[in-house]
Amino acid sequence: MTKSDPISAKGIRTRLVHAGRDPLAHHGFVNTPIYRGSTVLSPTVAHLQSGEGYVYGTHGTPTTRALEDAWSEISGAAGTVLVPSGLMAIALALMSVVKTGDDVLITDSVYRPTRTFCANVLDRLGVKARYYDPLIGAGIAALIQPNTSVIFTEAPGSQSFEIQDIPAIAEQAHRHDICVMMDNTWATPLFFPPHARGVDLAIEAGTKYLSGHSDLLMGLISANEKYLPRLKTTFTAFAPCAGPEDVFLALRGLRSMELRLKEAERQALQMAHWLQARPEVLRVLHPALPEDPGHAIWKRDFSGSSGLFSVVLKPASKAAVAAMLDGLELFGMGYSWGGFESLVIPFDCASYRTATHWAPGGPTLRFNIGLEDLHDLQADLDAGFQRLRTTA
Ligand SMILES: *Cc1c(COP(=O)(O)O)cnc(C)c1O
Repeated sequence: MTKSDPISAKGIRTRLVHAGRDPLAHHGFVNTPIYRGSTVLSPTVAHLQSGEGYVYGTHGTPTTRALEDAWSEISGAAGTVLVPSGLMAIALALMSVVKTGDDVLITDSVYRPTRTFCANVLDRLGVKARYYDPLIGAGIAALIQPNTSVIFTEAPGSQSFEIQDIPAIAEQAHRHDICVMMDNTWATPLFFPPHARGVDLAIEAGTKYLSGHSDLLMGLISANEKYLPRLKTTFTAFAPCAGPEDVFLALRGLRSMELRLKEAERQALQMAHWLQARPEVLRVLHPALPEDPGHAIWKRDFSGSSGLFSVVLKPASKAAVAAMLDGLELFGMGYSWGGFESLVIPFDCASYRTATHWAPGGPTLRFNIGLEDLHDLQADLDAGFQRLRTTA
């Protein structure tokens, strides 16, 4: 790469391989090493007082800087901060913008712990959360109040898979100088370039596809020029630093992220089609399927889909669903997703939604499709469906 040919002009795979990496600064070693440390020594008083370079552990290390730079590069962001979990990224993004007396609008399809953060922390600080229909689009304008400071989006919802019209929401928000936040964990910047679509602060749970191996927790917040200063100020005030080993593992995950995501997309789509044809399935909730209500917007704004989607089963007893899931051999039952292994969980949004009514017509399951052989996964589910049918 020459200086006249910036990395941002290269293809995404090239950028994922090269972004945030400077082997010659590390004796030629390919990967940026793990820098551990609080104290950073200065050679002179002048250097110490200049604040140049690395100053203190909470202010960044070559390891954290490498991931921040790489993430900004692939997100089209002015800058990125790293925090120890996806939920911390959500909390820090909100804390970077809100003040007492503010109103925040949050999609009813939001990751449930975001709702809990608003109820347990923001509410106590005098910041009121109101929930809106994820399909509202430009209709969000009718909900905006003079004290609205944030519109929080997530597309698709990570259980119910509604796609939001982010550009339409952003257009309305920006007329009133409102900050648009998005939890972009599902598509990642590889399939949805958040800042080019009007998002001011984009959140990624790096725990999912950046890690890819279910063995670390990580949150990233990328910002455009306008919101980067307040994001950085708030980060510095709290100093929620991601651990050096986790940052190193995330950087390592980044290099193969596109390959893993593409394969998860391919396998999940095949599985979604297979499930659509099952007699036990009422509906598959996956925006890349042409029948999905969010398909047109997904096709316009996204360049891919990940390995996570849900299905609505035809009405069945709790015992039948439990018999189906309890006997699965290859699918694990557990929270989180984005790893190499397939997962399934039953879920029900009905108890906590407040702006919309969740009544899909049957029990709902969420699948994370991993990297196993698809025919093995299908055989596992086939046996599960048999248990579903034969249990009262
Ligand atoms: C997992 C997840 C998070 C939170 O990430 P953690 O690292 O587990 O805190 C946030 N948003 C979505 C959509 C998620 O799936």
